[in-house]
Amino acid sequence: MSLNFQTCYDAIANRDTRFDGHFFTGVSSTGIFCRPICPATTPKPENCRFYLSAGAAMDAGFRPCLRCRPESAPYSPAWNGVKTTVSRALKMIDDGALDDQSVDQFAMKLGVGERYLRKLFSEHVGASPTAVARARRVLVAKGLITDSKKPMTEIAHLAGFRSIRQFNDTFKHLYGKPPSSLRKSSK
Ligand SMILES: [Zn+2]
Repeated sequence: MSLNFQTCYDAIANRDTRFDGHFFTGVSSTGIFCRPICPATTPKPENCRFYLSAGAAMDAGFRPCLRCRPESAPYSPAWNGVKTTVSRALKMIDDGALDDQSVDQFAMKLGVGERYLRKLFSEHVGASPTAVARARRVLVAKGLITDSKKPMTEIAHLAGFRSIRQFNDTFKHLYGKPPSSLRKSSK
């Protein structure tokens, strides 16, 4: 599965809802990544990088946009076309499978070798299983910060972070400010 630059660029220029969840756009001039439907001004083509998954965009150093909220993107129908192992793995990661076990143990549960699993992910998802799990934690937490009134410690736990410190460090690294400040700024 590969992404065609022009197809992706046309989709974001038209805010084409059919592509929502199929890919994400990393904008090199701002360092954020967006859904195709983002209401922000369409970035110049030379600033756009396209990724198959939120995990791949985050792995490349982009942080989730606060306007189009990549955590709310629908589960991509494109995944239906990929190998069953990948779909199963993504579903399990979504349920937190990689929050408390290694990729090696995880691969064993899926009945494949670790190297093969990594290869499948790099081909179909554009990011390693670990990167997908890391992105998932950030996206789940970000959704809860904005949409709930839950305390930060509880959010860290619910999103699968090992500690409140890991949670704080991750957000400080991404946004340059503590997670709680995202709640205030989104109001
Ligand atoms: Zn956006």
